[in-house]
Amino acid sequence: MKVTEHIAGANGKTLISFEVLPPLKGKGIEALYKHLDPLMEFKPSYINVTYHRSEHVFKKRSDGSFEKVVIRKRPGTESICAAIMNRYTVDTVPHLICGGFSVTETEDALINLQYLGIDNVLVLRGDAAKNETAFEPEPDGHKYASDLLHQVMNMNSGIFLEEDLKATNKTTFCIGVAGYPEKHFEAPNMQTDLRYLKAKVDGGADYIVTQMFFDNAKYYAFVKACRDFGINVPIIPGIKPIYSKKQLTVLPKTFHIDLPDDLSNEILKCKTDEEVEQVGTEWLLHQSKDLKKNGVPVLHYYTLGKPHIVANVVKQL
Ligand SMILES: Cc1cc2nc3c(=O)[nH]c(=O)nc-3n(C[C@H](O)[C@H](O)[C@H](O)COP(=O)(O)OP(=O)(O)OC[C@H]3O[C@@H](n4cnc5c(N)ncnc54)[C@H](O)[C@@H]3O)c2cc1C
Repeated sequence: MKVTEHIAGANGKTLISFEVLPPLKGKGIEALYKHLDPLMEFKPSYINVTYHRSEHVFKKRSDGSFEKVVIRKRPGTESICAAIMNRYTVDTVPHLICGGFSVTETEDALINLQYLGIDNVLVLRGDAAKNETAFEPEPDGHKYASDLLHQVMNMNSGIFLEEDLKATNKTTFCIGVAGYPEKHFEAPNMQTDLRYLKAKVDGGADYIVTQMFFDNAKYYAFVKACRDFGINVPIIPGIKPIYSKKQLTVLPKTFHIDLPDDLSNEILKCKTDEEVEQVGTEWLLHQSKDLKKNGVPVLHYYTLGKPHIVANVVKQL
């Protein structure tokens, strides 16, 4: 079932969804099941699975020289979606990125998703590879999420890369895109970022999922700005728990977001990470209750390595 069908069928009730990462290579799918098992009692409408491109790393040889090797730490997004669907009978949303993909590889990935019976896809650009200073598309790949979205929309109309294919089976993907309540870090200003977001929606995106935020006022202001801009699709808030002091610096640096003063002050007072987890859990619960009260379509939790915190919060909603 599509994300938009879940939302329409909820008749204004706030739904729950979870986002998980594929397991680290070598850990096996059981590691992921162990993560998801305690969350499934909350009957999420769907589960997102992130996509992780390969990286170049330099390994030191015994003679002191360096060897450039390509590693992929978390492969398997598409098959993990199928495995989750089989095990839990729940819909999945694979993330698909531009980075590292040619248009042909993208088409093949989408065909695989169609064969697996997956109805949704979250289309993203992806970040710069670790060895690049700025995002570099593949020579025959997409530069922006909107270009990738265009390819999915073409396939939804039966248009494949080989123009002479006749009587094609149209895909029917429901398409999500990313939005940034605190602006995407490369955008010169919010208005420009909103213009490109609107281009994604005008290009066929069915809904938006936001980057994480810790101040609900930023989400509400973003939704208002989107509506004023003529962006009228559902805007799903993405939220996550804080559980360590390290995140006070890591989250702003990695995701280009602010932590509210009240939250950072409380965390700074904590003596142990257990205390931070307590503060983070209360904050996430407070955020969740407020968003629910304000009628958001879905509470989308970035569960990362902490399913028990998310479970603890959802239980209290
Ligand atoms: C909900 C969510 C899930 C994510 N999941 C993943 C994941 O699984 N894997 C992963 O690698 N990354 C993931 N990311 C990170 C994402 O890939 C990065 O934030 C990336 O830097 C931008 O992706 P985007 O799809 O928003 O890009 P885009 O929409 O392409 O925007 C990128 C930048 O370009 C600008 N822009 C857009 N269109 C144009 C244009 N036509 N001309 C000029 N400028 C333009 C935008 O304003 C923005 O600054 C996720 C992010 C979010 C919010």
